Amino acid sequence: MKKILFWGLLLFLVLAAVLLIKTASFKSKQILRGEGKRIDFSIDETAVKHLSDAVKINTVSFDDTTVVNQLAFDSFFTFLKTQYVSVFENLEDTIINDRSLLLKWKGKNENLKPIILYAHVDVVPIEETTKSKWTHAPFSGEVADGFIWGRGTLDDKGSLISIFEALNRMQANHFTPARTIYFAFGGDEEVGGTRGAEAIAEYFRKQKTKFEFYIDEGGMVSSGLVPNMKHPVALIGTAEKGYITLELTVNAKGGHSSHPDKETALDILVNAVKKIHDNPEERRAVSTVNEFMNFVGPEMPFPLKTVFANKWLFEPLILNEYEKSAEGQALLRTTSALTILNAGLKENVIPSLVNAKINFRILPDESSAKVQERITQIVNDKRVIITRGEVYEPSHQSATNTIGFTLLQKTCAQVFPDAIVSPFLMLGSTDSKHFQDLTDNTYRFFPVRMDADLLETIHGINERIGVKDYMETIAFYETFIQSAK
Ligand SMILES: [Zn+2]
Repeated sequence: MKKILFWGLLLFLVLAAVLLIKTASFKSKQILRGEGKRIDFSIDETAVKHLSDAVKINTVSFDDTTVVNQLAFDSFFTFLKTQYVSVFENLEDTIINDRSLLLKWKGKNENLKPIILYAHVDVVPIEETTKSKWTHAPFSGEVADGFIWGRGTLDDKGSLISIFEALNRMQANHFTPARTIYFAFGGDEEVGGTRGAEAIAEYFRKQKTKFEFYIDEGGMVSSGLVPNMKHPVALIGTAEKGYITLELTVNAKGGHSSHPDKETALDILVNAVKKIHDNPEERRAVSTVNEFMNFVGPEMPFPLKTVFANKWLFEPLILNEYEKSAEGQALLRTTSALTILNAGLKENVIPSLVNAKINFRILPDESSAKVQERITQIVNDKRVIITRGEVYEPSHQSATNTIGFTLLQKTCAQVFPDAIVSPFLMLGSTDSKHFQDLTDNTYRFFPVRMDADLLETIHGINERIGVKDYMETIAFYETFIQSAK
């Protein structure tokens, strides 16, 4: 008995020592704020008016892409050209497919690979039933209670106009960048970006231009979104999930519902759908999610820091915690969601042709072909025809030891000194998917503070940006571009 106690105690001590040593060597990946130039965050009324005016121009993209308000896009570009005269004097501008804009700012050193900053011009429509719920009308651009209100303030005109404000300031200071910088503004991100982002990417493909890095919307300086973290976290999307819709179709004998066959087309379909639902993928942390844990872990309060420092032992506990929320579990597997079911017209008629659409969001270590193969095996029923709908593959997982990520991190340390920086996996999709072959380094980050409430307003009601926050965004782009060596 004594022996068992002895060995038990010894084992406990060794384990405790390992845990503590691992914790002690679990070093912070944050860059401390340097001495750099003092940043001016004072309220710039002209910049506020610019964003307010930009919101008033309703550059909406509709799901029915034949409906287009071309006039709005034309006036938006006219607005930019009249308000940012010196930017258009010094940068080369090209309109692509009527509704997208590309600017080129030639750098001093042609040997350096160019970089590209991206934002989108279009916004989503306002649902008729929600119009009355807005505190200030969605296209009013009202400035009230410390916010600029309206559709696009966060997604994505806030970013676009901040880039122009930063460019304007740099023209006034006669700044020339070290490397060439492209600024691309797509006109149809909200409906997939094929006319905008894809055409811009194609333009670069033809020129054989490759980029050092590419920046798009995505993460933000989040408050209260990372569990147990007391600091704001600047979340930089280093990967995004892919997308495939699989259509399941069954064609069988229909007829009168008074004498049904043992299995009808609908029975077969429902059974297949249930099998897919009941057989989710094994959970796993892909490298981007692992990196996220390595960046936020060292900043956690003490007992949690030990947990993150010892993933070899505690990973199941961490993943259990993530799995509790819908967002958390979506980080850990390719998800499936039944979104459309077409079957039946009359209650006493057995339908013969039925189908279902299931939308999958694919983890970056998988592919759409793999998903289809897995689902075919799970369904395992030749009567169910499985076809592919819309597809885009998951992105590659960009590294964090790169010029681009380091520059983002340094700029965050200057502009958001209270925040920590971390890479993360994006669940949604951005126009960056069109540029995957043009760079290895894609970072999705809109430098603005956002809490859960503000995040809800994107594509929703009362979208708005804090006036002070918007000043930080402008300062971020100015600092970032000036430091891009
Ligand atoms: Zn957007």
